Amino acid sequence: MTESDYCKRTAVTRLAVEPRDRERLLAMVREWKRGCQIAVNSAWGRCHTRNEVQQLAYDELRERTDLGSQHAVLATHRAAEAVKGAIDRGQADDPGAKPEFTAPTVVYDTRTMTVFDDRTVSLTTTDERVRCDLVTAEDGYQSRYLDDDRWEPAKSALHYRDGEFDLHLGFRASRPAVDPPGEDATVLGVDLGVENLAVTSTAEFFPGGELAHRHREFVDRRASLRATDTRSARRTLRRTGDRTDRHARDYLHRVAGSIVDEAERHRCEVVAFGELGDAHDRLQDAGEFHEWAFERLYEFVSYRAAERGITVVQVNPEYTGQRCTACGFTHPQNRDLDRNHFECLKCGNEANDDYNAAKNVAFRCVRRGPLSSPGVGAAYCALSSGRVTPDGDFVPNAELSEVPKT
Ligand SMILES: [Zn+2]
Repeated sequence: MTESDYCKRTAVTRLAVEPRDRERLLAMVREWKRGCQIAVNSAWGRCHTRNEVQQLAYDELRERTDLGSQHAVLATHRAAEAVKGAIDRGQADDPGAKPEFTAPTVVYDTRTMTVFDDRTVSLTTTDERVRCDLVTAEDGYQSRYLDDDRWEPAKSALHYRDGEFDLHLGFRASRPAVDPPGEDATVLGVDLGVENLAVTSTAEFFPGGELAHRHREFVDRRASLRATDTRSARRTLRRTGDRTDRHARDYLHRVAGSIVDEAERHRCEVVAFGELGDAHDRLQDAGEFHEWAFERLYEFVSYRAAERGITVVQVNPEYTGQRCTACGFTHPQNRDLDRNHFECLKCGNEANDDYNAAKNVAFRCVRRGPLSSPGVGAAYCALSSGRVTPDGDFVPNAELSEVPKT
């Protein structure tokens, strides 16, 4: 199986850390940052694939840091991603753009982390392994993965912030076999983001600004209430938290309803999302809150779509933001994230970048599996004006309405 055969999820979980283990974890964070930096310093201007950076920097990491063998490997891979990121942003020749590892995080995988059935986790450090309790949230959304054998622990990240350790616990499950859409099936593509929470391939935009704004306000409020730390402050905090949560869920339900309506209006048999677990790496501003929001939105859409016989799938979102839907040319600099704008360097095609990505998500769904084999028929991507095949065959909506639905 390859990476794309798995669905991925992240469950953010606080760790209850014993005082003596804090020092071990903090030392681990320091060594990890140092290791990643050493690897980047070696690789910068020379290479950027995981294998190359590992070849180049592994021995040096083992000599100069206290990282164990597996963490030395992981640090070279993390460094490779960072260098590749700079190249993708067109900054390969800018010495000022060399990645600096300042964030207090450590990457863990299943060789350096073990999750036990009693809700504890053991983590490799530069000293002994530490074992601590996972403090799961009240709504227990982590339990869905922890207690379900279909989900297995995967690549995770330890974060240190405000004196606390959080584990962004990664899970993966084999992707369930989805019946490929029928021969004439139409797919509604959906791209998720921060500025626009969701954009469909039919050019429906669901803004995300208000949601993000309310969450930020809550975070600020929480910080000041925590500083007070009286009983009434704690009560206010809980109420504000509940209200913010309710508002977010209401909005996500409304957006989910509109997405499913849109799919029905355009006679789509399938709604395709980009892989959710990938959001954190792909979106610069997507933090825990947005990971949570994307998960909920996907969940709400799945419920409602199932009632109406519409299939909801996740597809590999790689390059969906960079590919031109007009000519297929794929380049990181086609997309200007700051301006929310897409302009193809090759053919000049211009569009809103999220809308362009939503169409690519639909095309990715259409092209995958047996559908991409010649002679197996075609499926369509839904657009506001009609539907289109990946090869550009277009059926306008007027005509579409005369085609009986099978
Ligand atoms: Zn183009």
